[in-house]
Amino acid sequence: MNSTRLRYRHLFFDLDNTIWDFDRNSWFALRETFRKFNLDEGRFEEFFASYNHHNERLWELYRKNAITKQALSHSRFDLALQEMGITGIDGMEFNDAYLEGMPLQTRLCEGAPKVLEILSAKYQMHIITNGFVEVQYKKMALSRLSPFFRGIFVSEEIKSPKPSPEIFRHALKSSNARKKESLMIGDSWEVDIMGAMKVGIDQVHYAPFLENRDFTPEESEIVGHSRTCTYRINRLEELLDFL
Ligand SMILES: [Mg+2]
Repeated sequence: MNSTRLRYRHLFFDLDNTIWDFDRNSWFALRETFRKFNLDEGRFEEFFASYNHHNERLWELYRKNAITKQALSHSRFDLALQEMGITGIDGMEFNDAYLEGMPLQTRLCEGAPKVLEILSAKYQMHIITNGFVEVQYKKMALSRLSPFFRGIFVSEEIKSPKPSPEIFRHALKSSNARKKESLMIGDSWEVDIMGAMKVGIDQVHYAPFLENRDFTPEESEIVGHSRTCTYRINRLEELLDFL
């Protein structure tokens, strides 16, 4: 793949579950919060499943501007606790405790430190992330990620979450990056890949849990109609094969 070598100058990375291991960190942070509220640890996995279900659903509504950050923050816990028949705990208080503990977690996705170290010597690297400002900046600082990146673009700050084009355009403009020289790397097909594709930036879909990296017929159709280039990798180290 020599033809692609140094074709790009700017790498835009998603943060959660692309570099910072959100799933594992969130599990540990939630378990700590669960303990803090003196809840029965034997029921933690049940709580975790319920929380994830509600959190994903509410994030989708938040992305569509259908609910506020406030509603997202407490409802995800109110609903999970309610579903388990736990009363007397305020969802917002639970949320605050969780958000306080979350950025203190520092587990990174497999291969991330090595890959970032190597790529940062050759490319200008930036983060485009959906999340809350105070949380995302703290995560990056405590996980020692900040030095690798020139720009950190957080949806809450820019008031536009991925996959909407505004956040990508804002990131490109602020970084003085041309679309042709830019590559978006992220784990979410809908948010990172489709978002970047729509603004005309090439993309790498990081899909660690997919055994087969071939595109599904639906994905192939989308990729085929796009004027951008789409790659899929299972391990972050594979980036080094062509970057
Ligand atoms: Mg992600």
